[in-house]
Amino acid sequence: MSEFLIGDIVQMRKKHPCGGDTWEVQRIGMDFRIKCQTCQHSLLLPRRKFEKSVRQIISRGDPELTAKQRPFFDYHNSTKKQENS
Ligand SMILES: [Zn+2]
Repeated sequence: MSEFLIGDIVQMRKKHPCGGDTWEVQRIGMDFRIKCQTCQHSLLLPRRKFEKSVRQIISRGDPELTAKQRPFFDYHNSTKKQENS
């Protein structure tokens, strides 16, 4: 497990105060936005902290959606040619 996807449902090591421990990944990048599946509370976590906090991935998200929301790699590659011309 190296890469997370948007829409992943993950189980965290620590329980949320509401008692839930599963979260949906809504945004990835430098910071991850995750939403508690129990109380719908969402929060932003630095990537490193998120990765440390995940116990396991319960279900996989959407690779296509993830690619769209990751301008970092895809956007860079697709604009390279335009910049040169
Ligand atoms: Zn919660």
